Amino acid sequence: MFQLFLPLNFLGFVYREIKASMANIERMFELLDETPAVADNGTEPLRIGAGEVRFDHISFAYHAGRPILQQLELTIEAGKTLAVVGSSGAGKSTLTKLLFRFYEVGSGAIRIDGQPIDQVPQDELRRQLGIVPQDTVLFNDTLKNNLLYAKPDASDAELQQVIRLAHLETLLAQAEQGWDTRVGERGLKLSGGEKQRIAIARMLLKKPAIMVFDEATSSLDSHTERGIMEAIRQVSAGHTALIIAHRLSTVVDADRIAVLEQGQVVEQGSHSELMARQGRYYQLWQMQKETDK
Ligand code: ADP
Ligand code: MG
Repeated sequence: MFQLFLPLNFLGFVYREIKASMANIERMFELLDETPAVADNGTEPLRIGAGEVRFDHISFAYHAGRPILQQLELTIEAGKTLAVVGSSGAGKSTLTKLLFRFYEVGSGAIRIDGQPIDQVPQDELRRQLGIVPQDTVLFNDTLKNNLLYAKPDASDAELQQVIRLAHLETLLAQAEQGWDTRVGERGLKLSGGEKQRIAIARMLLKKPAIMVFDEATSSLDSHTERGIMEAIRQVSAGHTALIIAHRLSTVVDADRIAVLEQGQVVEQGSHSELMARQGRYYQLWQMQKETDK
């Protein structure tokens, strides 16, 4: 009796520990990458005020001799939405990985409200920011728990709301046990678009001061994408948001758009400013029109 009780109890303990450490969804992003260790020497609390994010003369290479970012300057104004566009391989996702400190910048500094992020413990940084990564991994757990990772104390009403905003109602209705249905490797297999919508629902629950969306709607059909972009717009209003865009049509309403090319920001402005300039952004639109034909 005692012997049976002890290991079970212990397993329960281990499980809770794992769940506690996973409560922070951004960890998944980290688990995904075969990331070299980044020194975690920061000791200051992260003090997010208005929420300005500044990439201050950032240079970075994964491998010496192949620079990805070169003296990059980019500011996401507090409470505003900045979209970053540029061809595949331009370094857009790399920006997000540096912001979450999965890699160390070669030179320069990333600052949040002036505070260099390497002075802050990594888990604190990742707890306070939110990301919908390019590829979402779900836990082998129920749909409900997969959402609750973002906010363990969320009420059922809050869950219902984000499920609606993230267009997950149909999925939920079709799942045999509703939100108690297990998903992931050992459960219900979800499509890329469904996983993206779960990641978006998590962000909508968490509502961090700084939100990052990395091609967060790339697997959705354009109708669903429109609805979800609208939900993202509503939730990110007043928050600082970095949106890395797949379809250019999703960046039109951003406060500012930056075009990344050869490791630098080559153009930035609003959609109408950049279209009027007929530069790189305009060319990207022409190219996308061609491929969408
Ligand atoms: P984007 O998101 O704009 O498509 P990425 O930031 O993912 O571009 O990648 C920029 C460049 O860095 C690409 O050439 C890519 O092949 C390279 N790269 C990305 N991740 C790694 C990595 N972990 N190791 C080495 N090179 C990488
Ligand atoms: Mg990318």
